[in-house]
Amino acid sequence: MLDLLAIAAHPDDVEQTCGGTLLRMAEAGYRTGIIDLTAGDMGTRGSPEIRVSESADAAKILKVSHRENLHFPDARLENSMAGRMTLAQRIRELRPRTVILPYWEGRHPDHYRTAELGYEACFLAGLRKIDQYTEPFRPYKIIYSSLYANVVPSFVVDVTQYFERRMESLLAYRSQYGERNDGSSLFPDEPEIRERLAATARFYGNLIGVKYGEPFVVKETMRVDDIVALPVRSL
Ligand SMILES: [Zn+2]
Repeated sequence: MLDLLAIAAHPDDVEQTCGGTLLRMAEAGYRTGIIDLTAGDMGTRGSPEIRVSESADAAKILKVSHRENLHFPDARLENSMAGRMTLAQRIRELRPRTVILPYWEGRHPDHYRTAELGYEACFLAGLRKIDQYTEPFRPYKIIYSSLYANVVPSFVVDVTQYFERRMESLLAYRSQYGERNDGSSLFPDEPEIRERLAATARFYGNLIGVKYGEPFVVKETMRVDDIVALPVRSL
């Protein structure tokens, strides 16, 4: 049973997009989890086994209660019926109130396909007849992590206190971000990746008047109950 579940295409996606928010929610007492759909078998560096074991190290740093990898095909992820049913089954068992999906548009097909597959799996999970052995369950809220997309966020989470540990969780993928002397320009080294992530988090943090932030988009309108206590200074 989880309160919050992030569904991502690749191991190391959540570490770059919403890891600070996951960590913040875990420290607030919520049970958090991650499902990675693929293990990065098309990646140039490392192997699926190495990336899955690195993702377990990262999960500890992010304090998630549950992380699993569904080993769907990387870089050619399909929104298939079998994939939707597998994910729907996991959602029924984990019962997260809130689900984080990647934003529904983006450069990498696996990311936007994960948004679609994840949404449809959440819907299917609520249908009694898809499986007679598990109770139907539909997450209450779906939010989209929009860090890979250049869109105006619906809201930004302050991750200032969590940014360093999110960075550490990404560097746990030593096969991807470790020191290499092969002269490859495909893979940024640690100072480069640190600067890039800090600049992006700083940009979104700035929007809400804090140092580091993570952006999210929701499809529904946000409701506010107390307009006197609204944060983020106007002038
Ligand atoms: Zn990815």
